[in-house]
Amino acid sequence: AIDAIAAPGGVDLSRVFAFVAGVAAVDLTAMGLDTLLDRRVLAFLYAVERDVHVAASDHALALPLAFHERERAGRLLTRINRGTAKLLEFLMDMTWQGMPTIIQIVGTFIAMAIVHLPIALVYGAFIPAFIAVAIRQQRVEQPFRRERHERYEDAAAHLDEGIWNVLTVQSFGREQASGATYRGIFDVITRLGRQQWLIGTRYNFVKSAIVNSGRIAVICTAAWEAWRGAVSVGDVVLLATLSEKAFISCFNLSRILERISDAREPVERLRAFLDEASPVADPPHPVPAHLSGGIAFDNVTFTYGNGANAALREMSFSVEPGETIAFAGPSGGGKSTIVKLLFRHYDPTGGRVLLDGVDVRRFARSDFRHQLGYVPQEGQLFSGTVSANIRFACPEATDDEVRAAARLAGAETFVASLSKGYDTLIGEQGVTLSGGQRQRLCIARAVVGNPKVLVFDEATSALDAESERIIQEALERLRGTTTIILIAHRLSTIRHADRILVVEGGRIVEEGSHAQLLRQNGLYQRLVNLSLS
Ligand code: ADP
Repeated sequence: AIDAIAAPGGVDLSRVFAFVAGVAAVDLTAMGLDTLLDRRVLAFLYAVERDVHVAASDHALALPLAFHERERAGRLLTRINRGTAKLLEFLMDMTWQGMPTIIQIVGTFIAMAIVHLPIALVYGAFIPAFIAVAIRQQRVEQPFRRERHERYEDAAAHLDEGIWNVLTVQSFGREQASGATYRGIFDVITRLGRQQWLIGTRYNFVKSAIVNSGRIAVICTAAWEAWRGAVSVGDVVLLATLSEKAFISCFNLSRILERISDAREPVERLRAFLDEASPVADPPHPVPAHLSGGIAFDNVTFTYGNGANAALREMSFSVEPGETIAFAGPSGGGKSTIVKLLFRHYDPTGGRVLLDGVDVRRFARSDFRHQLGYVPQEGQLFSGTVSANIRFACPEATDDEVRAAARLAGAETFVASLSKGYDTLIGEQGVTLSGGQRQRLCIARAVVGNPKVLVFDEATSALDAESERIIQEALERLRGTTTIILIAHRLSTIRHADRILVVEGGRIVEEGSHAQLLRQNGLYQRLVNLSLS
C-alpha cells in the first residue's frame, strides 16, 4: 500500500483500495473463524473439566482403604483440583495463545522470505536462540516448581486436618501454633518463588538482549538492502512491522512456556494419582454372591504394607448364619483388621477369608458388600435428609422400609420429634444430632437393606446409657435373623453375644460365652475387671 501511495506516477488509488479490501476480508474471515472455533474449544474444555474431575473422583472412591489410610485427604483434594485447573489452563493457553503465537512467528518468516529472503534469514537466526534460552530457563526453574507444589499440598493437608480437628485445636488453645505452621509452609513457598524469580531475571536479561539485537539486525539489513535498491520503502516498512510484532510475540511465547512448565508439575501429580493401581481388584469372572451369613477365616495372616509385625497371625474361626459373635481384646489386638479383611478392604497376606464357604476374592466387591451392613464407630453421616441417610445403602428402599429400619434402630421417636421428620436436613447444613442419635441413624442405614451380616464397630467414645440400651435392643431384635459381628472396643454391649472371641497380638487367645470366659480366669476376665474398676 505504501509503495502504491508513493508510486512515481502518483498515488495508485485502485491498488491502495485493493490492499485495504484484502486486509478487511482477512480480518472478517479471522473473526468468523474465531467465533466458530471458540464455541468448539469451550465445549471441549468443559468436557475435559468434567471428565477429569469425574475420573479422579471415581478413582479416589475406587482406591482401597490402604491408599486412603496413607494419603491425607487435603493433599489428595489439592492434587485433583490443582491438577485439573492447571490442565485446563494449559489447554486454554495452547489454543488461544500458544498455537496462534507459533503460527505468527513461523508465518512471519514465510511472509518475509517471500518478500526478501536475506532479511527473513536474519530474522530467522534470532528466533531459535531465543527459544533455546527460554526452554533452558524452564528446565532450571522446574525443581523450584516441584518443591512449591509439594508444599501447596502440605498446606492444604494441614488446613484440612485443622478444620476436621477444630474441636481439639481450640480446646488445647493451639489455633496460633497451627496458624504458625501454616504460615511457615507459605514462607517456604514464598522463598522458593523468590529464588525461582531471581534465576528467571538472568534468563530474562539474555532473552531481551537476543530480541533487541534481532530487531536492530533486521532494521539495519533492511535499510542496507533498500539503499542497494534490492527492496522498496514499502517492503522495508512491511518487513520491519512484521518482524517487530513477531519479536514481541517471542516474549509471549516465553510466558506461555513458563505457564506450561508451571502446569506440568500439578498435571503430572494428578496423572500419577490416576495411574495409582489398586492392589485389591475384582476377579475377571466373579461368582454371584447370594449370602446366607456364614463367615470363616481360614488360617489368615495379615501384615499392613508399612508394618513390620503381622496384625493377624494364622487366625482361624467360623461363624454360623444368624449367630451373634463378638471380638474383644486389648487395643491394637487386631479386631478392626478382621473387619477390614472381611469387607475385603485388604487381602490377607496368607490364608483365606470365606463367606458361605467362598473366598471373598472370587466375588465382585460391590456385589457381596451390598449384602453386608456396617455401623461405623463414629456415627458418620452425610449432609442431606434423615431419609436420604437411611437410604444410603439401599436407594430403592420404600418409605415403609425406611421407617421399619428406623424403628428397629430405635430412631423412630427422635426422628418424629425433628421439625420435618424424615425430611429434616442433617449434617453440615442441617440440625446437629447427638452422638447417640447419629449412632441410631447409622444402625437404621445398616439394616435397611436386610443385610445377611451386620458388623457393629462399637463406639470407642462412651455412649450414654440410653443409647447403649437402644443398641442392645436393636441387637436383640436382629438376633437370629442376621449374622452379627460386634467389635467391642469396650465390653458393655457384648455380654449377650452367643460367642466371644478374645483377640490379642493378632491371635484368638480365648473363646466362649461371657459366663464361660469369666470362669476361665484369663485375659477376658482381666479386661472385664479393668472396665469395671
Ligand atoms: P484393634 O481394633 O484391636 O484395636 P487394629 O486391628 O486396629 O486393633 O490393629 C492391629 C495392629 O495393626 C496394631 O498393631 C495396629 O498398630 C496395626 N494397624 C492398624 N491399622 C493400620 C494401618 N492402617 N497401617 C498400619 N498398621 C495398622
